[in-house]
Amino acid sequence: MSFVLHGIGVSGGIAIGYARLVSHATLEVAHHIIPENQVNEEIARLENAFTVARKELETLHAAIVDGPATNEYGAFLDLYLMILADPTLLDAARENIASHHYNAEWAITQQMDVLLAQFEDIEDAYLRERKNDVVQVVEHVLKALSGPRGHLSPQVGQEEGDSILVAHDLSPADVMQYKQHHFTAFLTDLGGLTSHTTIVARSLNIPSIVALRHARRLIRDNDLLIVDGIQGVVIVDPDRQVLSEYRLRQSQIELERKKLQRLRSVATRTLDGTEIELHANIELPQDVDQVRESGAAGIGLFRSEFLFLNREGLPEEDEQFEAYRTVVRKMQGMPVTIRTFDLGADKNFDNSRRVASNPALGLRAIRLCLAEPHMFHTQLRAVLRASHYGQIRILIPMLSSVAEITQTLQAVELARQSLRDEKIPFDEGIRVGGMIEVPAAALSLNAFMRKLDFLSVGTNDLIQYMLAIDRTDDSVVHLYDPLHPAVLWLLMDIIRTANRARKPISVCGEMAGDVLFTRLLLGFGLRQFSMHPAHLLLVKRQILRSHLPDIEPLVKKLTRLRSQEKIHSSLTKLNA
Ligand code: PEP
Ligand code: MG
Repeated sequence: MSFVLHGIGVSGGIAIGYARLVSHATLEVAHHIIPENQVNEEIARLENAFTVARKELETLHAAIVDGPATNEYGAFLDLYLMILADPTLLDAARENIASHHYNAEWAITQQMDVLLAQFEDIEDAYLRERKNDVVQVVEHVLKALSGPRGHLSPQVGQEEGDSILVAHDLSPADVMQYKQHHFTAFLTDLGGLTSHTTIVARSLNIPSIVALRHARRLIRDNDLLIVDGIQGVVIVDPDRQVLSEYRLRQSQIELERKKLQRLRSVATRTLDGTEIELHANIELPQDVDQVRESGAAGIGLFRSEFLFLNREGLPEEDEQFEAYRTVVRKMQGMPVTIRTFDLGADKNFDNSRRVASNPALGLRAIRLCLAEPHMFHTQLRAVLRASHYGQIRILIPMLSSVAEITQTLQAVELARQSLRDEKIPFDEGIRVGGMIEVPAAALSLNAFMRKLDFLSVGTNDLIQYMLAIDRTDDSVVHLYDPLHPAVLWLLMDIIRTANRARKPISVCGEMAGDVLFTRLLLGFGLRQFSMHPAHLLLVKRQILRSHLPDIEPLVKKLTRLRSQEKIHSSLTKLNA
């Protein structure tokens, strides 16, 4: 039966393919088909994982010291052991491998979903709640099967060309894993417009929709889907006529994309001849190839913290140095802006850390680096060493006070001195800039500019903190509005103040890569943009079609408006 789901399109284009469900929210595992000759091996892997999980639970049980609280814990462990021993779990999972050739992780989570659905029909609330125990038990088995959550087996990848990933939720680390594979679209029930999960999905330049609410529950594995990332619509099981209409639109979009490639080596200038610099945002060194293909003039934001995700332990200085040096070398003399680690909030590297009650307001980014001087020193040394091989700039995230800048610059000097002492070469003239993404920073701009060599506006966080809207929360995604008059006013003020002081300034948040805002930002006086390479040529085309003397008076008028509705309609006129 055909039906339609609505969410928020975060990356455009149209994809047509088959659903690949990521299993239960906390149990996201890879789905893939194993070859016939590996079936027995896979079953043995599954059985072994059951044995490991049983032993683990028995060890926990044996370690219990008698007492009222621990008795209850013991009863839980007994229950887990009972579920684990119940043949409905292992036998059906085995059968999933034998008949369908599912990998072991998929086989067990598939059976778990069958059991969970049965629990939904139970009237007794207590018994219904027992489904969580099933989930817990399956988590134990999965841990035994594939190590930490999010781990993907290396076999995945052959047949994902027409697969659409459907998940309840994905972390940025999950998307980084899936990035190596070739899904044609991402769908999630949760997620915000500028969460890091969304940003990475968007960087893949494939249609993505978040905030679908019930997609994971309503869509079944292998359902045929049309994903319209522009409208935020998913059509499940479409009829032939709808399918052929969308195929036509898909090929038109593809044609447009190909045409855009011709702009790659065209100089980025407005119709009146003003030069604009377009830089790229990257997460990993391998993204540089895409940057080179886009014709970007440099890297405006290297989110270096992604080097930390999906791994055990922190990368050492040499490993980081190699990563940074690879990037500068590949950029062949073009500027590379390395942002120091912006860890914390939705990018966690250490699961053993206490989860802050408000992670976005917690020990994140520069705060975390200053609290962990050894980690920061290691990164700064690695960045400085790499600066000997190209043009590197250091960018500091989440600054909120001048005192933080002072402390940061001291840390940079300490790293420089340590290299001088060891006679290791680095660029003595390296520039240090700051991200303007906390309202307090924007309001202290003059003091910030005295200490920093350049500025980069992180609109994703700036908007989050100005409007008090969690950028990862789908329930407030409709309120996340870059066109809020207060946001516009502050953005304009930041850019104008920096331009007046001749302090280099760019915008590297998602606004910079959205053609909807290109003319607005040009009208504010912005001359340097940084965005994912996938969006660069679209923005370039918009710049090539823009005439600043026409734009500026319209933008001036627009910023005087106080109603969001009027601002939206006057933006449409500006872009016409
Ligand atoms: C921003 O906040 O706009 C930004 C570019 O940084 P991030 O998205 O990584 O927080
Ligand atoms: Mg930010």
